[in-house]
Amino acid sequence: SDDVTECLPHTSVATASRSEPLSVLEARGISAWFGSHKVLEEVSLTMQAGKVTALIGPSGCGKSTFLRILNRMHELVPSASLAGEVLLDGDDIYDRDKKLQDARRHIGMVFQKPNPFPAMSIYDNVVSGLKLTGVRASRSDKDGLVERSLTAAGLWKEVKDRLKQPGGGLSGGQQQRLCIARSLAVRPKVLLMDEPCSALDPTSTRVIEETMTELQKEVTIVIVTHNMQQAQRVSQHTAFFLASLGTPGAIVEHGDTDAMFSEPQDERTWDYVNGRF
Ligand code: ADP
Ligand code: MG
Repeated sequence: SDDVTECLPHTSVATASRSEPLSVLEARGISAWFGSHKVLEEVSLTMQAGKVTALIGPSGCGKSTFLRILNRMHELVPSASLAGEVLLDGDDIYDRDKKLQDARRHIGMVFQKPNPFPAMSIYDNVVSGLKLTGVRASRSDKDGLVERSLTAAGLWKEVKDRLKQPGGGLSGGQQQRLCIARSLAVRPKVLLMDEPCSALDPTSTRVIEETMTELQKEVTIVIVTHNMQQAQRVSQHTAFFLASLGTPGAIVEHGDTDAMFSEPQDERTWDYVNGRF
């Protein structure tokens, strides 16, 4: 039965006093291909514990591919291959004896388009990730996790009286926060967010930004965004990706977010952050 209490440590996803240290995710020399098409070249980046790292750059420069490499989703594409290492707290997630499921459990992903299971209840949406990633929980554990995850995602107050209603009945912004709660339910160490607000209105966007600022106390966050104001509001570290004239995507420069926007070292960064291309 899957209703057995097991595997779940008693610390919660949303307690302010998280006992474990926050995690570091490090990409080392990542190159990536789709067939013979090379789309990333030697990307190295450390995503620091407890910080929000923003990935910026024009469409097609490999930001989403890089994000998918960080939680082993890239390998789901049959033609895809890669070189390099991804270390979660020093352990290579691509080690031969490491399970795919573990990478997925520890490194969650939220996508541009909110994708809750529309016919499934809000409650079941939140717990749906547990089974997929091999986490077992009793009914009361699940109740606690649902409340904590929805609270951490900034959605609890709005939905606590209608947990049995379908996730598809929520507004777009609420659906995205439901997806964040679903990711949080397995207590990930890292949360990857691929343009999480691009499909949302400004009010919902601000709610999610505020949620991220709270969440970074619990989980290391990486966000892809095309919104330069958003990168400045939510992140402490920024990496600028570029794929110029048919060359693979690469990081032009990265560093402290304020410095990247006020005094970038590379002219191309300056042009990009000022909307020149
Ligand atoms: P970004 O997120 O920065 O817009 P992507 O990572 O989506 O960039 O894409 C980088 C490059 O990889 C692009 O040239 C894109 O066409 C290519 N690409 C992305 N996904 C696939 C795929 N599944 N198959 C083949 N090529 C892909
Ligand atoms: Mg993308």
